[in-house]
Amino acid sequence: MRGGDVVWLLGIPAALVGCRGPTDATAWRRARAACGLDEGDHPSTTLRDGRLPTTLSEGCATWLAEDLGVDWESFGGSPGPVTGGGDPLSLTLMGAWALVAADYGTVGALLADPDGAAWGQEALAELATRGGFRDPDAAGALLYAHVLDHVDRVAYDPGLEGVGARFQGGTVYIPTTGDPWDAPPAWMASVLVHEASHHHGPAHVRCSGGVDPDCDEDLHGIYGTQAQAIAAAVARLDPADPLTPIACAQSQIYIDAICRMVNHASAPGPCDPGALRASCPAP
Ligand SMILES: [Zn+2]
Repeated sequence: MRGGDVVWLLGIPAALVGCRGPTDATAWRRARAACGLDEGDHPSTTLRDGRLPTTLSEGCATWLAEDLGVDWESFGGSPGPVTGGGDPLSLTLMGAWALVAADYGTVGALLADPDGAAWGQEALAELATRGGFRDPDAAGALLYAHVLDHVDRVAYDPGLEGVGARFQGGTVYIPTTGDPWDAPPAWMASVLVHEASHHHGPAHVRCSGGVDPDCDEDLHGIYGTQAQAIAAAVARLDPADPLTPIACAQSQIYIDAICRMVNHASAPGPCDPGALRASCPAP
């Protein structure tokens, strides 16, 4: 009997997804407004000494949580302002904020990115058509729509260890945090893009020389898409912002981590040593 109840309950989110309507730039625009971001305003999304350069207001954090379907109970948290990372809930909300705050360039440039995997580009192009995006529109709006299109719920899973989130049936499970998770919001934004991409992308494969089952064979898997999202944001960092060198250095650490999960990372591409540094202003 209980099993039947669970199946029925699981059917509810699917029905809600069907009612969402077309995924366009509206969600991104509304989230930006809720977070006090004016048009063209792209603040640094990096951390300094574990803290954000700006505080996410309670209204902003609550709005983003609502968009993502954050399961407050699983996190043992409640709506409130966010100032830094270090805990799974704050990190999740900072990631959603980075996705709406950062400048990922234009939809046209993202869809024409030669580093993009065919399946990923096709999925984003299809979404762009469905949502009425035009080439000059913000790529961040398309990425946010991509995440909201496939992620119905974000929940904390204390049994999930390590640094990898997990995607299952429209839910992103956030693992137990540790030092590696004292991470910049831009990283968590790329994790959300990664997990949403599991809806379309190829399954992970076993890592060469190991037993870890969560690698990709080459950069045309989901890690390649994640690296592409980071590289797009780095390429648009403001050279005049004093936080940009920190953002570049942090992004390089996470690009390196991603590239270690790819069995055959070909060059040229985001795993080419120095590819990201080439986009960063000289220190
Ligand atoms: Zn994955």
